Amino acid sequence: MKGRNSRVEQIVIIGGGIAGLSAGIYAQRNGFQSIILEKHRIPGGQCTGWERGGYHIDGCIHWLTGTKENSPLNRLWNEVGALDGVEIVHPESFLCFEQDEQRACILRDLDELQRHWTELSPADADVIREFCEDVRLLQSFSFPVEKPQDLMGPVETVRTLLSMRDAGRILKKYGRMTIREFAQRFGCPAIREGFGAMAPDGYNAAMIFFAVAAFTADEASIPTGGSRALAERMTETYLRLGGRIETGCEVSELEIADGTVRSVKSADGRSFPADYFIAACDAHHLYHTLLGNRHPDRAFESRFANPTDYPLASEVLVAIGFRATVDALGEPMPWSVSFPIEPITINGRAIPRLTVKHFSHEPGFAPEGETLLICDINQYAEDYDAWKRLGPEAYRREKERIGNEVIEALSARFPAMRGRLVLLDVATPTTYERYCNAYRGAFMGFFPTVKGKMMSHTGRIRGLHNLVLCSQWLQPPGGLPTALMAGRNAIMRLCRTTRRSFA
Ligand SMILES: Cc1cc2nc3c(=O)[nH]c(=O)nc-3n(C[C@H](O)[C@H](O)[C@H](O)COP(=O)(O)OP(=O)(O)OC[C@H]3O[C@@H](n4cnc5c(N)ncnc54)[C@H](O)[C@@H]3O)c2cc1C
Repeated sequence: MKGRNSRVEQIVIIGGGIAGLSAGIYAQRNGFQSIILEKHRIPGGQCTGWERGGYHIDGCIHWLTGTKENSPLNRLWNEVGALDGVEIVHPESFLCFEQDEQRACILRDLDELQRHWTELSPADADVIREFCEDVRLLQSFSFPVEKPQDLMGPVETVRTLLSMRDAGRILKKYGRMTIREFAQRFGCPAIREGFGAMAPDGYNAAMIFFAVAAFTADEASIPTGGSRALAERMTETYLRLGGRIETGCEVSELEIADGTVRSVKSADGRSFPADYFIAACDAHHLYHTLLGNRHPDRAFESRFANPTDYPLASEVLVAIGFRATVDALGEPMPWSVSFPIEPITINGRAIPRLTVKHFSHEPGFAPEGETLLICDINQYAEDYDAWKRLGPEAYRREKERIGNEVIEALSARFPAMRGRLVLLDVATPTTYERYCNAYRGAFMGFFPTVKGKMMSHTGRIRGLHNLVLCSQWLQPPGGLPTALMAGRNAIMRLCRTTRRSFA
């Protein structure tokens, strides 16, 4: 399809993460000619994986929302080729909490979950019933994905609001309750400690309900092949539609005249002119680095300035090779399990629990007869500052120390692992900053807290008519579905501007 002057309009997309790939795919489908400029040597951004010591380390997907066949989000993932013919793994449990010789699992079957938790802790029967009823209320909820609210007519807006009634009820009930307060409702130590350790104080409890509802409705499972393969499938879709990608191409400057971006310049001095520009990258990187604070956005700036109510989270990812299969453990190992440990100190903060997940469903991620294990340790504002203060040698030593202490903690919990664990890699908040220009290493946008206000942003930049922000930052809490929708919504808005019907 051509524009009114019958010249194909050009779009430059800064960043080839999931948002950038999504924007590129929808741009090509709608008759624009686009190019993605990606600073890393491969597209995918945070949705990635890498090789170490004969293993493939999956660096992202714990769960992907939109895996239930034919759900509205699932249709979008299929539209961009992300799930084309891909087998979905539905683990029996999402996460198991261990404490005081008890194990409480978030089971996929919600009735089973209710039975299992009540058996563990009959005194909690009422709280467990209420939890399951509220989760059930959300199982059929799906986030409206058809179009962004600013493009809806009055009838669509009313219909959408009505479809969000149950979600609204849960937000009203739990949105002002912290996860810690919610956890304290349970007498069962495994449930109480497990939930309580999921996030620091201040984070709102509603997010637990949305996550458990999606998982128990089969809407949040794991695509086989993992994160990098998902990004590769989207890349193939984009290239097949005629898109172009320049990798190893970091945009360092925007050339702006009279409220119009004329071109972007890459760090190696090349210039890329276009009619429209989509910044599919970190919000802080766009406003502060690329735009040099000349086009500040009040919604973002007020949040960046208030990290207490709008916290960001990053993580230390410890990848470990287990020189055996999980069967060798002599006990069932859930897909993901959180257990108390002899505390590991990171940046002066004691980490009292560890969560480990295994990838036995991905034999290709490890040499034959071996298993990839990944431990994620959440990191917050003060952690990032501490990592930044380390010089290169101290940074390397600190990663190694943490890796070895994690191995010791795993060996203490699973004695059959002792002597069979090998440290493959440790990523820190500065890794995500270095590779993806992620502000303070954040792996998602602002986390929902009890004090913070939800943000829904169109991505429009004040004073610039042909540049938009399009990434997970537009809608809390971020994540892959938000990135996918951000790309699609950006092109839908552009179609409206250029008077095309969106396809
Ligand atoms: C360890 C980890 C686990 C996660 N687990 C999950 C999960 O289970 N489920 C889920 O839904 N989400 C998960 N996420 C979050 C998910 O990965 C992100 O929400 C999503 O990938 C963000 O996509 P994006 O395109 O908005 O941003 P990014 O992935 O950050 O992409 C931005 C891209 O822009 C590029 N870029 C930046 N600046 C420039 C520039 N100046 N010039 C050129 N290129 C540039 C970057 O290199 C990057 O490729 C996880 C993230 C991490 C780190």
